[in-house]
Amino acid sequence: MEIKHYILIGAIVLYIVIVYLFSRLGGTREIGTRRLFLLSLFLTPIMGLAFYLNSTHRKINHYTEESYKCDECGYVFSEEHEYCPFCEKEGKKQKLRQVDIFMT
Ligand SMILES: [Zn+2]
Repeated sequence: MEIKHYILIGAIVLYIVIVYLFSRLGGTREIGTRRLFLLSLFLTPIMGLAFYLNSTHRKINHYTEESYKCDECGYVFSEEHEYCPFCEKEGKKQKLRQVDIFMT
C-alpha cells in the first residue's frame, strides 16, 4: 500500500473518532448520542453542530411533592396531620413541618 492510502485511512479513522467524541455531547440534549453521531458522520460534524445547537436540552422532570416531615422521628407523611401520629402515640405532640420532596 502506498503512503497516501495510510494517510487516507488515518484521516477516516480520525474523522470517526472526532464524530464519536462530538456525538457524546448529544447525551445531554434531546437529539441523543446516536442520532447526533449519524448526522455528524454523514453530514459532517459542522452540520451535526447545527443540529446539536438546535436541539433543546433534555427535559428534566423535576417536580416537587408537598410532604410533611416530623423532626422528632424523621418520618415523612404525604398527607397533612396536625401532629405526628407516631410521636403522638408516645405522648409527644410534634408538629409536622412542610417539606418539598424532590421527585425524579
Ligand atoms: Zn414523629
